[in-house]
Amino acid sequence: MNTVFADEPHGECIRVRGLVQGVGFRPTVWRLAQELALTGEILNDSEGVLIRIWGEAEDLKRFLPSLLESLPPLARIDKLECSDWVVGKPPDSFRIIASERGAIHTGVLPDAASCDDCVRETLDPFNRRYRYPFTNCTHCGPRFSILRKIPYDRANTSMAQFPLCEDCRSEYENPDDRRFHAQPTACHVCGPKARLRRQDGSPFSLDRFTSLDDIDAAANLLRTGEIVLIKGIGGFHLACDAANASAVNRLRERKGRPHKPLALMARDIEVIARYAEVGELDRRALLSKRSLKKY
Ligand SMILES: [Zn+2]
Ligand SMILES: [Zn+2]
Repeated sequence: MNTVFADEPHGECIRVRGLVQGVGFRPTVWRLAQELALTGEILNDSEGVLIRIWGEAEDLKRFLPSLLESLPPLARIDKLECSDWVVGKPPDSFRIIASERGAIHTGVLPDAASCDDCVRETLDPFNRRYRYPFTNCTHCGPRFSILRKIPYDRANTSMAQFPLCEDCRSEYENPDDRRFHAQPTACHVCGPKARLRRQDGSPFSLDRFTSLDDIDAAANLLRTGEIVLIKGIGGFHLACDAANASAVNRLRERKGRPHKPLALMARDIEVIARYAEVGELDRRALLSKRSLKKY
């Protein structure tokens, strides 16, 4: 019979239930295990995530509090169950074990607003995702809208037709990268492209606007009072400059919506506050991970 003494090196088995798959949970645990010099393994299974760790009692004690402190933004733990993990020979490293195919029955997360890191990359001229409109990672991006069937794997999403380039693949396979197993990850090289078309399908000549790219050209069209139909991940948006009365009237005429209110889009909360009263609850909803963005 094995007896585990709390102050000796030992193993613990931790069952985690909640929204813990496809949100960067395993790499977070992997990183934490490196930091605390713990060994063992982690895997996704039909009930959520199973962690088996082994190490010095002092380090093991720090594991759970540190995990709760550094949860990835989209993760949510509903239940934790801990038990002893009795192993003959302690493992010499911490490994992420591949999940068994077909064993996963977890819920699918809704789309999430771009995270701050992705926004920063998209706005950084030195980053390889500069101005790439479909930038995402395990902390953000589309989920439900691009899913065709479960489990949530790239092959089952509308990203299946875009094989990863070498750079994206190495991020996808690196547990130390926030794009580890980010199913919809993409870049200029391998991902979908944004294209601006006229109503009759013909392309725009960007020279006319001296635009940076098609998205910049669409922004310029909006600024000059044109109506642009924007295909987003979850549907289409007819858009025009809300501060341009003649553009709004033209949109209302064409849509046959003379009076019905139209939804407004704004760059950030500061712009919204110029036009509307923003209460504390509104502010929290607008800046939440579920929002449709804040930059
Ligand atoms: Zn992100
Ligand atoms: Zn790529």
